[in-house]
This record gives sequence, C-alpha cells and structure tokens, in this order.
Amino acid sequence: MHTDIAQHLKDVHQRIRAACLAAQRPEDSVQLLAVSKTFGADAVRAAHAAGQTAFGENYIQEAVDKIAALQDLPLQWHCIGPIQSNKTRLVAEHFDWVHSVDRLKIAQRLSEQRPAHLPPLQLCLQVNIDGGETKAGVAPGDALALAKAVAALPRLQLRGLMTLPEPAETEAQMRSVHRQAKALLDDLRQQGLPLDTLSMGMSADMGAAIAEGSTMVRVGTAIFGRR
Ligand SMILES: *Cc1c(COP(=O)(O)O)cnc(C)c1O
Repeated sequence: MHTDIAQHLKDVHQRIRAACLAAQRPEDSVQLLAVSKTFGADAVRAAHAAGQTAFGENYIQEAVDKIAALQDLPLQWHCIGPIQSNKTRLVAEHFDWVHSVDRLKIAQRLSEQRPAHLPPLQLCLQVNIDGGETKAGVAPGDALALAKAVAALPRLQLRGLMTLPEPAETEAQMRSVHRQAKALLDDLRQQGLPLDTLSMGMSADMGAAIAEGSTMVRVGTAIFGRR
C-alpha cells in the first residue's frame, strides 16, 4: 500500500505537469495538497517519505489526533472541512492554513484564538459558485465585503478563494464553474486585495481546474485510494 502511495504521488505530479504544460503555465504555479482524511498517520508518513509535505483534513478532531502523532515530521496542515464555532480554537491552534471559512464570525474567532507564538493563520474563503442556498460557501456577490472584513483582522492572512463544485455533467460545464471562480478572484484582486491562491480541483477535475487558473489542487483519492 505504501509503495502505491509513492507511485500515485508520481502519477498525480505527472498529471499536474501535463495540465500546466497544456495551459502554458509554469509547473511550479500549482501546489499539491494531499487530502489524507480518513487515512491514518502511517499513510501520511508514507506520503511524506515520497516527498509530500502539505496535507489537507476535513474532520477537525481526527486531524488534531493525526497532527499530534506526526509531530516529528515538518508537515504543513490545511483545514478544508466545515468549521463549527466550537471547533475554531482547535483549528487556530493546530493548523497552518484554513480553506473553508465562509462567515465573518468564524474568521473573527480564528483571529482571536490564533496563538501569538504561531505565524498568522493562512486563510481562503470558501465560495459557493454553482450551488444552492444550503450549500457551504459565501455567495459570489457577498465575497468582496467578507474578504475586506477578513483582511482587516489580525493574526490571519487572507490568501484567496476555495471552491468545492458539484461534479458537472460535462467537462465544459465543469470548466465554466472553475472559470467563474477565477474571475471572482481576479475581481477581488482588482479591488486591491493581495490574493495569490485559488484552491480548486480534486482527483476528478484537477486538469480542468488547472486549465482555468487553480494554484492549489486538493487531491485525496488519486493518492491514498478510495475512502
Ligand atoms: C475530500 C475532499 C477533497 C479530495 O477529494 P478527492 O476526490 O478524494 O480527491 C478535496 N477537497 C475537499 C474539500 C474534500 O472534502
């Protein structure tokens, strides 16, 4: 299984390289976040041994246990799952990045609870490009106001946007959702927010996401296998 992880990482890097080449983008313009949710610390160790350092987790308590078990490794941890108010302290104390903030209240708590001895928490706003009203993520029309409010908070550094689109019927539909996310990021930058991150694309759609401007793909299944 662990030799599989090393091989899968090679394959994913190859897919990223090919997508960058096709889009005439530099290879190093896209970072790989390995999504290790539901997999144990041993799987993360195997990925680290194969050169991977950035890991994404959805379930906060599971992540905190894993982070503790892997203290001996220089890893970077990204929270990509839903955050309830009562979990913000764990996120502020244990993670390097958070991608899934869609409310000012959560950002305020993260800012207040980020320990002074740690660097600022790197933050992306989750944006709901394609979904209905019940879906997580700020509506595109509300993103600018939220981004400005979050950018003003201490102990956080606003880096960009994250999207989690529903699988679309066709590649063209998928790419249209990705394109709207990129356009929104460009809009916010035009408004003076210094953003450099578009967290977009997973195992199934990383090629399309890179074609449309993703700077960070979040890949689980293609590295660790089925959950
Ligand atoms: C699980 C998850 C991923 C990884 O999805 P795969 O299809 O396994 O690559 C990426 N982003 C988020 C927010 C997730 O919850």
